[in-house]
Amino acid sequence: MSYDYDAPASQALFDRAQVVIPGGVNSPVRAFRAVGGTPRFMVSGAGPYLTDADGREYVDLVCSWGPMILGHAHPAVVEALQTAASKGTSYGTPSPGEVTLAEEIVARVAPVEQVRLVNSGTEATMSAVRLARGFTGRSKVVKFAGCYHGHVDALLASAGSGVVTFGLPDTPGVTGASAADTIVLPYNDLAAVQAAFEEYGDQIACVITEAAAANMGVVPPLHGFSQGLQTLCIRYGALLISDEVMTGFRVSGSGWYGIEGVAPDLFTFGKVMGGGLPAAAFGGRADVMGHLAPAGPVYQAGTLSGNPLAVAAGLATLQHCTDEVYAHVDATAATVGRLASEALTKVGVQHRLNTAGSLFSVFFCDHEVVDYATATRQEALRYKAFFHAMLAEGVYLPPSAYEAWFVSAAHDDQALERIEAALPKAAAAAAAVPGPEVVAPVTAEDRA
Ligand SMILES: *Cc1c(COP(=O)(O)O)cnc(C)c1O
Repeated sequence: MSYDYDAPASQALFDRAQVVIPGGVNSPVRAFRAVGGTPRFMVSGAGPYLTDADGREYVDLVCSWGPMILGHAHPAVVEALQTAASKGTSYGTPSPGEVTLAEEIVARVAPVEQVRLVNSGTEATMSAVRLARGFTGRSKVVKFAGCYHGHVDALLASAGSGVVTFGLPDTPGVTGASAADTIVLPYNDLAAVQAAFEEYGDQIACVITEAAAANMGVVPPLHGFSQGLQTLCIRYGALLISDEVMTGFRVSGSGWYGIEGVAPDLFTFGKVMGGGLPAAAFGGRADVMGHLAPAGPVYQAGTLSGNPLAVAAGLATLQHCTDEVYAHVDATAATVGRLASEALTKVGVQHRLNTAGSLFSVFFCDHEVVDYATATRQEALRYKAFFHAMLAEGVYLPPSAYEAWFVSAAHDDQALERIEAALPKAAAAAAAVPGPEVVAPVTAEDRA
């Protein structure tokens, strides 16, 4: 495939970056390897738009992978940051904003009684799993294939064959020992979870799941799946960890919990709650959280945890995430999904639009997508063509077929018009790809 438009300034930056940064990026999916071409180096953002180093403007449908729910450079967030920065950037002591942010989270998500702030979603899931192991005195962790919980060693495991399988390291650098206590099961398969508990019930510390899976494309939990997980965890004395790093404060004011109402023992949060700065959290039952140091024996810490700038950006963002914001984001997501689907239908491209609240993604296939196996049986080459045609028309989609698309409160009619105008060319480009393609599994390159 050729990309017959130029991004010389981005290319020059990418050339420099590749000398001093592995692969030229600080997180793999940004390198465009899943779609090919030159990654765009962005120099500014405003509302629904990003501008790259060559001065081209894009409607942003990635929104920093979720955090920018109010749009880029929202005045209230910028002002909160400026005010905070003028008072110093880190104290290494407790500070008032941390308390307010924790109170805001506890007030929004009913089952969260206590919360600990950390710096990334990875840290949140890593710490939640450690806490679950410390609390239960058990070692095994159940996770689902295709669910991403950050780059935690024990959670970078994929399954071997068979229904109940132990994790095999997904990447060099993760030892067999780190992955050996991880049981990887198919998402949305309660029978597999039941079977795992029947065999290893007294050894399973926790089940960790994406509240609604959105890192293999968007794959919502089937009716009864989340409830079934909770029932099994209670029966076998394991903790349920709902990873709401992506869904939290994005799909509703109280995240996926606010939509489905199933209460896990622990939650993990990130992305939106940091307002574009590094802030994340884990929280839940007070009796479980009470096991964390210094209240309890399970060690967890962070030099910059609860950082005043991150807390200020997160608080300002959450405080501006009103019912109107969620209503607008929901409606806009539904519109973009419908427009994309209509454009593809018009040119006869088989696809599925999957949604989970305001999260959505398009799979280039003609079967229902309910788990990793069905998600990866798609014609990803069509997505590459679709992606580059949209990019050429000034719309920035996720540079991988296995990511959610995101909108913000700042995506207005003008931004929607630009997306709508770009879609016919993109759909035609997708239709022009000779198929069907051999299925390629999700790789590290597909991930943020
Ligand atoms: C993004 C994400 C993470 C990892 O968060 P980082 O801040 O990138 O470490 C964990 N879980 C889910 C569900 C995510 O979407």
